[in-house]
Amino acid sequence: MLVDLRRQLDSKTISAVELTEQFLRTIAEKNPQLNAYVSVLNDYAIEQAKRCDDDIAQGQIQPLTGIPYALKDIFCVKGIETTACSNILRGYIPPYSATVAERLRAGVLLGKTNTDEFTMGSSTETSAFGVTHNPYDADRVSGGSSGGSAAAVAAGLATFGLGTDTGGSIRQPAAFCGVVGLRPTYGRVSRYGAIAMASSLDTVGPITATVEDCAIVLEQIAGFDALDGTTSDRPVEQYQAILRNVPTGLRIGLPTEYFETEGLHPGIRQAIEQIVQQLKQAGHTVQAVSIPHTKYAVPTYYIICPCEVSSNLARYDGIKYGFRADSAEELLEIYQQSRAQGFGVEAKRRIMIGTYALSAGYYDAYYLKAMQVRTLLRQDFAAAFNEVDVMIAPVTPQPAFKIGEKTTDPIQMFLEDVFTIPSNLAGLPAITVPCGKIDQLPIALQVIGPQWSEGRLLQLGYQIEHLPHDS
Ligand code: GLN
Repeated sequence: MLVDLRRQLDSKTISAVELTEQFLRTIAEKNPQLNAYVSVLNDYAIEQAKRCDDDIAQGQIQPLTGIPYALKDIFCVKGIETTACSNILRGYIPPYSATVAERLRAGVLLGKTNTDEFTMGSSTETSAFGVTHNPYDADRVSGGSSGGSAAAVAAGLATFGLGTDTGGSIRQPAAFCGVVGLRPTYGRVSRYGAIAMASSLDTVGPITATVEDCAIVLEQIAGFDALDGTTSDRPVEQYQAILRNVPTGLRIGLPTEYFETEGLHPGIRQAIEQIVQQLKQAGHTVQAVSIPHTKYAVPTYYIICPCEVSSNLARYDGIKYGFRADSAEELLEIYQQSRAQGFGVEAKRRIMIGTYALSAGYYDAYYLKAMQVRTLLRQDFAAAFNEVDVMIAPVTPQPAFKIGEKTTDPIQMFLEDVFTIPSNLAGLPAITVPCGKIDQLPIALQVIGPQWSEGRLLQLGYQIEHLPHDS
């Protein structure tokens, strides 16, 4: 898709302004129902598109020049309201842009997309702006937290979007909306200017219509950034150029614990098994591998994540950013009332759990223990990747669930992340690739790899995308 648009823009079959107008029209038509965007930047987008047309006329063309895209409303963009879909940041205008927003400047930013509040959730239902509906079934969620970007791409409201993935927030909504989503290795893409939820787990990555688009976008945003001390200076691979050269004879692992997880829809298991068979026929080898600590991943994450949340969200005090409660008179009241009124239920739950788990006397029992289990999980993956090159696994236990189905039971919502969280705890990359439909709803698999294996994941993802499969 991006390759086609690039060709049309370069040959002037369409101008960047015309293309942008087309997308803005589709957004005006479909967004009121979908709620994928929380803000649409009509005038700003047209201004950018005009600049792109000038650049194209002068032959100053980068891969994304003139391409209209969307950013999850977690990325700061200078001068543009950025809220993390929380009332506590309503009206916050960042004085600087996220590194990824800078790196996409050749493109046309159409707007900011919906997310669970501070990315805490799996359905966008914790967003202060309401839920994003699934483009395949309006009664269902689009997943989360990057549900707005995934729905926007799936419904043709953006060519691609960026999301963040702390525990699955790129891969799960991509799976629910039938699009591609890549969570890179921790340290591959700068987090600077992405509003933090859990800093040791947060990653930034593309949500796209195809694997090739994913390769193109990742190539633009990846790489060292002096503003994020956790980024690596390893050279960025030419993901698009190597895409079609998948090596034969890859050793593919199927993590036993994932496939034995209770609640995995048999249709998802079958679709994955069918693809694995086809990959065998294509010359790869397949074997079972074990990640013995899989069952501890969700409880471990739901200690570490809230601990980091309680620390990261301490800065929202009613003074430095966005919202301030009018009722408050004294300093302490400003803090208390602004936080009480500004944060939603899930943010408060995590602040409380995290503060508790980090407090004297409980730190060792919860936080330290969770960090030790995290190390064991890393070791599980390291051992498995001595035997195989990549793993294939489900992304979600079921296709998209109904709006409201899990909101009253946070544990049910947390269990949504059972297949995505382990790789986050281990800092590993993984890509969601659609693999069919169940009752008209998209389903997907993920390919998980060792650190810095994004090139390999994209190659295998591309091969999977081009296998014949049902529906
Ligand atoms: N669903 C997970 C959570 O609620 C993951 C969210 C994310 O990756 N940002 O924390």
